[in-house]
Amino acid sequence: MGSRTYKSDEFDRYSEREARRREWYRREMQKRRKALAILVSMGIGAILLLTFLIVLIVKIFSPTDTSKVENELLNTPSSELSLVNNLSDDESLSGPDSGNSKRTSDKLNRGIIVIDPGHGGYDSGCISSTKYEKDIDLEIALALCDKLKNKGFDVYMTRTDDSFVGINDRAILANDCEGAVALISVHQNSSEESSDEGVEVWTCDNEKNEQLAQLVVDEVSGLTGAINGGVKIQDNLVICSKAEMTAVIVECGYLSNKREAKNLSDPAYQEKIAEGIAVAVDNFIGP
Ligand SMILES: [Zn+2]
Repeated sequence: MGSRTYKSDEFDRYSEREARRREWYRREMQKRRKALAILVSMGIGAILLLTFLIVLIVKIFSPTDTSKVENELLNTPSSELSLVNNLSDDESLSGPDSGNSKRTSDKLNRGIIVIDPGHGGYDSGCISSTKYEKDIDLEIALALCDKLKNKGFDVYMTRTDDSFVGINDRAILANDCEGAVALISVHQNSSEESSDEGVEVWTCDNEKNEQLAQLVVDEVSGLTGAINGGVKIQDNLVICSKAEMTAVIVECGYLSNKREAKNLSDPAYQEKIAEGIAVAVDNFIGP
């Protein structure tokens, strides 16, 4: 009050106006800051929602989600091509009785079959409660090798032990194998549905491929009693699309199905699978 006596009325009015103006300005800035904060958070929310929607759409429409074939078997950019180009045929392809002969010279020479046991090394493939796919793939492949040799075929294998072979290399190794008439890739399947079961043969759209695939799935299903899952055609399978010969991928059964997984680990059941594939190859090639 005391200080007021020294100021004119005009000065007091000016001060009040100024104080009101400042208060208005402060509130206005506060409002704007609030509006800006709301706008920014809405923007971030919209971006997050959009990202989520894009991921969802990509997941729904991606081919790997709509089919049961393993991701690794699908066409992806090559990263291992240089590795195989440095290897000679002898280094890159190995018979299970290496050191010995790869050819069964005492029998009819009916052509070369390339057997490709799936996965290997750090790539385990799918997993059952007790065993890795890569091990089952190799066990069946080795049994198949013996049976094909007994039928007079020469056999080459893309791996004979627990070593890693790149997915692109497998087709290249087969193509490097002069005179190879067919490529049999051995795999085990897996599904989120634990009830899924049965043998399936995957291949690319080609008359010969489909013919061999049908023979294999029918023979294996017939000998093992497994459900016949039929032939599945998918054109972006690396091995089948890159191999310059008849090529099929045998998904012998589902490791995600407890009962079938037990069968697939059983040597007697593996023998039946190998026999089914060998009979199919035998019929496919003919006398
Ligand atoms: Zn596999």
